[in-house]
Amino acid sequence: MSWKMLETNQPHVAKMIVNSIRKGRVAHAYLFEGQKGTGKKEAALLFAKRLFCLTNVHDDPCETCVNCRRIQSGNHPDVHLVVPDGNSIKKQQIEQLQEEFTKTAVESSRKLYIIEHADQMTVQAANSLLKFLEEPSAKTVAILLTEQLHRILPTIVSRCQVISFRKLPTEQIYAHLQKQGVPRELAILAARVTNNVQEAFQLSQDDWFAQARKIVIQLYEALNKQYVQALLVIQQHWLSHFTNKEQMSIGLDLLLYLYKDLLYVLLGEEQQIAYDDCINEFRRSRFLYSEKQIAQHMKAILQAKARLHTNMNPQLLMEQLVLQLREGSAFV
Ligand SMILES: [Zn+2]
Repeated sequence: MSWKMLETNQPHVAKMIVNSIRKGRVAHAYLFEGQKGTGKKEAALLFAKRLFCLTNVHDDPCETCVNCRRIQSGNHPDVHLVVPDGNSIKKQQIEQLQEEFTKTAVESSRKLYIIEHADQMTVQAANSLLKFLEEPSAKTVAILLTEQLHRILPTIVSRCQVISFRKLPTEQIYAHLQKQGVPRELAILAARVTNNVQEAFQLSQDDWFAQARKIVIQLYEALNKQYVQALLVIQQHWLSHFTNKEQMSIGLDLLLYLYKDLLYVLLGEEQQIAYDDCINEFRRSRFLYSEKQIAQHMKAILQAKARLHTNMNPQLLMEQLVLQLREGSAFV
Protein backbone atom coordinates (compact mmCIF):
# COMPACT_ATOMS: atom_id res chain seq x y z
CA MET A 1 0.00 0.00 0.00
CA SER A 2 1.27 3.42 -0.89
CA TRP A 3 0.83 6.54 1.18
CA LYS A 4 -1.68 7.76 -1.41
CA MET A 5 -3.78 4.64 -0.92
CA LEU A 6 -3.70 5.12 2.84
CA GLU A 7 -4.90 8.71 2.39
CA THR A 8 -7.75 7.48 0.17
CA ASN A 9 -8.80 4.39 2.12
CA GLN A 10 -8.09 5.41 5.71
CA PRO A 11 -7.80 9.22 5.66
CA HIS A 12 -8.11 9.56 9.46
CA VAL A 13 -5.11 7.23 9.92
CA ALA A 14 -2.95 9.21 7.49
CA LYS A 15 -3.95 12.42 9.25
CA MET A 16 -3.17 10.96 12.69
CA ILE A 17 0.32 9.94 11.53
CA VAL A 18 1.05 13.33 9.99
CA ASN A 19 -0.22 15.30 13.00
CA SER A 20 1.54 13.24 15.63
CA ILE A 21 4.87 13.60 13.83
CA ARG A 22 4.43 17.30 13.02
CA LYS A 23 3.51 18.13 16.59
CA GLY A 24 6.11 15.80 18.07
CA ARG A 25 3.36 13.88 19.88
CA VAL A 26 3.98 10.32 18.89
CA ALA A 27 2.31 8.04 21.48
CA HIS A 28 4.10 5.15 23.19
CA ALA A 29 1.56 2.62 22.03
CA TYR A 30 -1.04 2.36 19.32
CA LEU A 31 -3.63 -0.30 18.72
CA PHE A 32 -4.73 -0.56 15.09
CA GLU A 33 -8.00 -2.45 14.93
CA GLY A 34 -10.20 -3.34 11.98
CA GLN A 35 -11.20 -6.11 9.62
CA LYS A 36 -8.79 -8.21 7.63
CA GLY A 37 -7.74 -6.41 4.48
CA THR A 38 -8.16 -2.88 5.79
CA GLY A 39 -4.40 -2.25 5.60
CA LYS A 40 -3.40 -2.13 9.28
CA LYS A 41 0.04 -3.67 8.80
CA GLU A 42 0.77 -1.56 5.74
CA ALA A 43 -0.24 1.55 7.68
CA ALA A 44 2.03 0.52 10.59
CA LEU A 45 4.93 0.15 8.17
CA LEU A 46 4.18 3.53 6.59
CA PHE A 47 4.13 5.04 10.08
CA ALA A 48 7.50 3.43 10.83
CA LYS A 49 8.94 4.67 7.54
CA ARG A 50 7.69 8.18 8.20
CA LEU A 51 9.34 8.15 11.64
CA PHE A 52 12.65 6.86 10.36
CA CYS A 53 12.70 8.43 6.88
CA LEU A 54 15.80 10.47 6.19
CA THR A 55 13.93 12.91 3.96
CA ASN A 56 11.86 15.22 6.11
CA VAL A 57 10.41 17.49 3.48
CA HIS A 58 7.01 15.88 2.93
CA ASP A 59 4.28 14.31 5.02
CA ASP A 60 4.68 10.97 3.31
CA PRO A 61 7.76 8.72 3.57
CA CYS A 62 10.11 8.98 0.56
CA GLU A 63 10.23 5.18 0.04
CA THR A 64 13.69 5.54 -1.48
CA CYS A 65 16.08 6.40 1.35
CA VAL A 66 18.02 3.63 3.03
CA ASN A 67 15.72 3.59 6.09
CA CYS A 68 12.51 3.40 4.08
CA ARG A 69 13.94 0.60 2.01
CA ARG A 70 15.19 -1.37 5.00
CA ILE A 71 11.85 -1.12 6.76
CA GLN A 72 10.14 -2.31 3.59
CA SER A 73 12.40 -5.36 3.41
CA GLY A 74 12.22 -6.03 7.16
CA ASN A 75 15.90 -5.28 7.74
CA HIS A 76 15.91 -2.15 9.82
CA PRO A 77 17.73 -2.85 13.13
CA ASP A 78 15.41 -0.58 15.14
CA VAL A 79 12.11 -1.74 13.70
CA HIS A 80 10.82 -5.11 14.89
CA LEU A 81 7.89 -7.18 13.80
CA VAL A 82 6.39 -9.87 16.03
CA VAL A 83 4.08 -12.42 14.41
CA PRO A 84 2.35 -15.47 15.94
CA ASP A 85 4.58 -18.51 16.29
CA GLY A 86 2.12 -21.14 15.14
CA ASN A 87 -1.24 -20.35 16.69
CA SER A 88 -0.10 -17.92 19.34
CA ILE A 89 2.35 -15.22 20.34
CA LYS A 90 4.38 -16.71 23.18
CA LYS A 91 5.78 -15.13 26.31
CA GLN A 92 9.28 -15.86 25.09
CA GLN A 93 8.71 -13.75 21.98
CA ILE A 94 7.71 -10.75 24.08
CA GLU A 95 10.70 -11.30 26.39
CA GLN A 96 13.04 -11.37 23.42
CA LEU A 97 11.52 -8.13 22.24
CA GLN A 98 12.01 -6.55 25.68
CA GLU A 99 15.59 -7.67 25.77
CA GLU A 100 16.16 -6.19 22.35
CA PHE A 101 14.62 -2.92 23.49
CA THR A 102 16.75 -2.54 26.58
CA LYS A 103 19.70 -2.04 24.25
CA THR A 104 19.93 1.48 22.94
CA ALA A 105 18.76 2.00 19.43
CA VAL A 106 21.41 0.84 17.02
CA GLU A 107 21.28 3.66 14.56
CA SER A 108 18.48 6.02 15.35
CA SER A 109 17.25 7.56 18.52
CA ARG A 110 14.04 5.55 18.37
CA LYS A 111 12.87 1.97 18.34
CA LEU A 112 9.56 0.72 17.08
CA TYR A 113 7.86 -2.64 17.25
CA ILE A 114 4.77 -3.98 15.55
CA ILE A 115 2.82 -6.93 16.97
CA GLU A 116 0.65 -8.57 14.35
CA HIS A 117 -2.48 -10.43 15.54
CA ALA A 118 -1.96 -9.09 19.05
CA ASP A 119 -5.15 -10.90 20.12
CA GLN A 120 -3.25 -14.17 19.72
CA MET A 121 -0.91 -13.43 22.60
CA THR A 122 -1.05 -16.04 25.33
CA VAL A 123 -2.07 -14.75 28.77
CA GLN A 124 1.58 -14.88 29.87
CA ALA A 125 2.70 -12.99 26.76
CA ALA A 126 0.01 -10.36 27.29
CA ASN A 127 1.08 -9.90 30.91
CA SER A 128 4.71 -9.49 29.86
CA LEU A 129 3.71 -6.94 27.28
CA LEU A 130 1.61 -5.12 29.84
CA LYS A 131 4.64 -4.64 32.09
CA PHE A 132 6.56 -3.42 29.08
CA LEU A 133 3.83 -0.89 28.24
CA GLU A 134 3.70 0.29 31.84
CA GLU A 135 7.31 1.44 31.73
CA PRO A 136 7.28 3.43 28.52
CA SER A 137 10.55 4.75 27.25
CA ALA A 138 10.33 8.04 25.43
CA LYS A 139 12.10 6.46 22.53
CA THR A 140 9.88 3.43 22.09
CA VAL A 141 6.80 3.14 19.91
CA ALA A 142 4.55 0.07 19.94
CA ILE A 143 1.95 -0.66 17.28
CA LEU A 144 -0.39 -3.55 18.04
CA LEU A 145 -2.58 -4.90 15.24
CA THR A 146 -5.82 -6.84 15.66
CA GLU A 147 -8.93 -7.94 13.83
CA GLN A 148 -10.56 -8.76 17.17
CA LEU A 149 -10.39 -5.85 19.55
CA HIS A 150 -12.67 -7.57 22.07
CA ARG A 151 -10.05 -10.27 22.59
CA ILE A 152 -7.36 -7.85 23.78
CA LEU A 153 -6.95 -7.41 27.54
CA PRO A 154 -8.71 -4.19 28.63
CA THR A 155 -5.60 -3.24 30.60
CA ILE A 156 -3.62 -3.31 27.36
CA VAL A 157 -6.28 -1.45 25.38
CA SER A 158 -6.35 1.31 28.00
CA ARG A 159 -2.61 1.91 27.55
CA CYS A 160 -2.87 2.28 23.79
CA GLN A 161 -4.22 4.91 21.49
CA VAL A 162 -6.87 2.90 19.61
CA ILE A 163 -7.13 3.65 15.90
CA SER A 164 -10.04 2.02 14.04
CA PHE A 165 -9.66 1.09 10.39
CA ARG A 166 -12.83 1.39 8.39
CA LYS A 167 -14.15 -1.26 6.07
CA LEU A 168 -13.59 -0.34 2.42
CA PRO A 169 -16.78 0.30 0.47
CA THR A 170 -17.53 -2.69 -1.77
CA GLU A 171 -18.05 -0.28 -4.68
CA GLN A 172 -14.49 0.96 -4.31
CA ILE A 173 -13.05 -2.56 -4.55
CA TYR A 174 -15.39 -3.35 -7.43
CA ALA A 175 -14.34 -0.20 -9.33
CA HIS A 176 -10.69 -1.12 -8.80
CA LEU A 177 -11.24 -4.64 -10.20
CA GLN A 178 -13.13 -3.29 -13.20
CA LYS A 179 -10.24 -0.95 -13.93
CA GLN A 180 -7.99 -4.01 -13.98
CA GLY A 181 -10.24 -5.56 -16.62
CA VAL A 182 -11.93 -8.16 -14.38
CA PRO A 183 -15.28 -9.23 -15.91
CA ARG A 184 -18.27 -7.77 -14.09
CA GLU A 185 -19.76 -11.07 -12.91
CA LEU A 186 -16.52 -12.00 -11.11
CA ALA A 187 -15.57 -8.49 -9.95
CA ILE A 188 -18.89 -7.90 -8.23
CA LEU A 189 -18.66 -11.16 -6.24
CA ALA A 190 -14.95 -10.95 -5.43
CA ALA A 191 -15.49 -7.42 -4.09
CA ARG A 192 -18.14 -8.75 -1.72
CA VAL A 193 -16.24 -11.84 -0.58
CA THR A 194 -13.20 -9.94 0.72
CA ASN A 195 -12.44 -6.43 1.88
CA ASN A 196 -8.89 -6.68 0.60
CA VAL A 197 -8.34 -5.24 -2.89
CA GLN A 198 -5.32 -7.47 -3.54
CA GLU A 199 -7.11 -10.61 -2.39
CA ALA A 200 -10.20 -9.73 -4.40
CA PHE A 201 -8.06 -9.34 -7.50
CA GLN A 202 -6.29 -12.66 -6.96
CA LEU A 203 -9.61 -14.38 -6.39
CA SER A 204 -11.06 -12.93 -9.59
CA GLN A 205 -8.06 -14.25 -11.53
CA ASP A 206 -8.41 -17.74 -10.12
CA ASP A 207 -10.23 -20.30 -12.22
CA TRP A 208 -11.35 -21.91 -8.97
CA PHE A 209 -13.44 -18.83 -8.18
CA ALA A 210 -15.21 -18.80 -11.55
CA GLN A 211 -15.92 -22.50 -11.12
CA ALA A 212 -17.18 -21.91 -7.57
CA ARG A 213 -19.66 -19.39 -8.93
CA LYS A 214 -20.94 -21.94 -11.45
CA ILE A 215 -21.42 -24.62 -8.79
CA VAL A 216 -23.37 -22.21 -6.58
CA ILE A 217 -25.72 -21.42 -9.48
CA GLN A 218 -26.03 -25.13 -10.22
CA LEU A 219 -26.99 -25.79 -6.61
CA TYR A 220 -29.59 -23.05 -6.67
CA GLU A 221 -31.14 -24.37 -9.88
CA ALA A 222 -31.22 -27.89 -8.47
CA LEU A 223 -32.83 -26.62 -5.25
CA ASN A 224 -35.60 -25.16 -7.37
CA LYS A 225 -36.21 -28.56 -8.92
CA GLN A 226 -35.78 -31.55 -6.65
CA TYR A 227 -34.24 -32.28 -3.31
CA VAL A 228 -32.41 -35.28 -4.76
CA GLN A 229 -30.88 -33.17 -7.50
CA ALA A 230 -29.57 -30.68 -4.99
CA LEU A 231 -28.01 -33.53 -3.00
CA LEU A 232 -26.34 -34.76 -6.19
CA VAL A 233 -24.78 -31.34 -6.81
CA ILE A 234 -23.40 -31.41 -3.25
CA GLN A 235 -21.97 -34.89 -3.62
CA GLN A 236 -20.67 -34.62 -7.17
CA HIS A 237 -19.48 -31.01 -7.36
CA TRP A 238 -19.62 -29.03 -4.14
CA LEU A 239 -17.63 -31.26 -1.78
CA SER A 240 -14.78 -31.82 -4.23
CA HIS A 241 -14.53 -28.12 -5.05
CA PHE A 242 -14.81 -26.58 -1.59
CA THR A 243 -12.32 -28.77 0.21
CA ASN A 244 -11.41 -26.76 3.30
CA LYS A 245 -13.07 -24.35 5.74
CA GLU A 246 -11.84 -21.27 3.94
CA GLN A 247 -13.16 -22.48 0.58
CA MET A 248 -16.43 -23.64 2.15
CA SER A 249 -16.82 -20.21 3.69
CA ILE A 250 -16.41 -18.55 0.28
CA GLY A 251 -18.87 -21.04 -1.24
CA LEU A 252 -21.47 -20.24 1.42
CA ASP A 253 -20.88 -16.52 0.95
CA LEU A 254 -21.51 -16.90 -2.78
CA LEU A 255 -24.72 -18.78 -2.02
CA LEU A 256 -25.76 -16.06 0.42
CA TYR A 257 -25.27 -13.34 -2.22
CA LEU A 258 -27.41 -15.35 -4.60
CA TYR A 259 -30.32 -15.42 -2.13
CA LYS A 260 -29.73 -11.72 -1.51
CA ASP A 261 -30.19 -11.21 -5.26
CA LEU A 262 -33.45 -13.07 -5.11
CA LEU A 263 -34.57 -10.70 -2.37
CA TYR A 264 -33.55 -7.71 -4.50
CA VAL A 265 -35.61 -9.04 -7.40
CA LEU A 266 -38.57 -9.54 -5.06
CA LEU A 267 -38.21 -5.97 -3.81
CA GLY A 268 -37.95 -4.61 -7.35
CA GLU A 269 -34.30 -3.59 -6.96
CA GLU A 270 -32.84 -5.57 -9.82
CA GLN A 271 -30.01 -3.10 -10.42
CA GLN A 272 -28.43 -4.31 -7.17
CA ILE A 273 -27.97 -7.93 -8.15
CA ALA A 274 -24.64 -9.72 -8.50
CA TYR A 275 -25.71 -12.73 -10.57
CA ASP A 276 -26.87 -10.87 -13.70
CA ASP A 277 -26.96 -14.02 -15.79
CA CYS A 278 -29.52 -15.59 -13.44
CA ILE A 279 -32.01 -12.75 -13.68
CA ASN A 280 -34.56 -14.83 -15.60
CA GLU A 281 -34.32 -17.70 -13.15
CA PHE A 282 -34.77 -15.21 -10.29
CA ARG A 283 -37.78 -13.65 -11.95
CA ARG A 284 -39.32 -17.07 -12.38
CA SER A 285 -38.67 -18.12 -8.79
CA ARG A 286 -39.86 -14.88 -7.21
CA PHE A 287 -43.40 -16.27 -7.25
CA LEU A 288 -42.26 -19.30 -5.33
CA TYR A 289 -40.67 -17.64 -2.31
CA SER A 290 -41.89 -15.02 0.11
CA GLU A 291 -39.57 -12.39 1.53
CA LYS A 292 -39.80 -14.18 4.85
CA GLN A 293 -38.71 -17.49 3.32
CA ILE A 294 -35.73 -15.91 1.63
CA ALA A 295 -34.76 -14.29 4.92
CA GLN A 296 -34.98 -17.70 6.58
CA HIS A 297 -32.82 -19.24 3.88
CA MET A 298 -30.21 -16.54 4.33
CA LYS A 299 -30.26 -17.20 8.06
CA ALA A 300 -29.76 -20.93 7.43
CA ILE A 301 -26.71 -20.17 5.25
CA LEU A 302 -25.23 -17.94 7.95
CA GLN A 303 -25.81 -20.67 10.54
CA ALA A 304 -24.05 -23.18 8.30
CA LYS A 305 -21.15 -20.74 8.05
CA ALA A 306 -20.96 -20.53 11.83
CA ARG A 307 -20.98 -24.34 12.03
CA LEU A 308 -17.83 -24.48 9.88
CA HIS A 309 -15.90 -23.72 13.06
CA THR A 310 -17.39 -26.58 15.02
CA ASN A 311 -15.58 -29.19 12.92
CA MET A 312 -18.86 -30.62 11.73
CA ASN A 313 -18.56 -33.07 8.85
CA PRO A 314 -18.82 -30.93 5.66
CA GLN A 315 -21.12 -33.36 3.86
CA LEU A 316 -23.53 -33.47 6.79
CA LEU A 317 -23.36 -29.69 7.10
CA MET A 318 -24.25 -29.17 3.44
CA GLU A 319 -26.97 -31.83 3.41
CA GLN A 320 -28.63 -30.23 6.41
CA LEU A 321 -28.43 -26.86 4.71
CA VAL A 322 -30.00 -28.23 1.52
CA LEU A 323 -32.84 -29.60 3.62
CA GLN A 324 -33.38 -26.20 5.23
CA LEU A 325 -33.25 -24.44 1.87
CA ARG A 326 -35.97 -26.76 0.62
CA GLU A 327 -38.18 -26.12 3.64
CA GLY A 328 -41.41 -24.33 2.92
CA SER A 329 -40.57 -24.52 -0.75
CA ALA A 330 -43.44 -24.70 -3.20
CA PHE A 331 -41.72 -27.52 -5.10
CA VAL A 332 -41.90 -31.24 -4.55
ZN1 LIG B 1 12.63 7.65 3.34
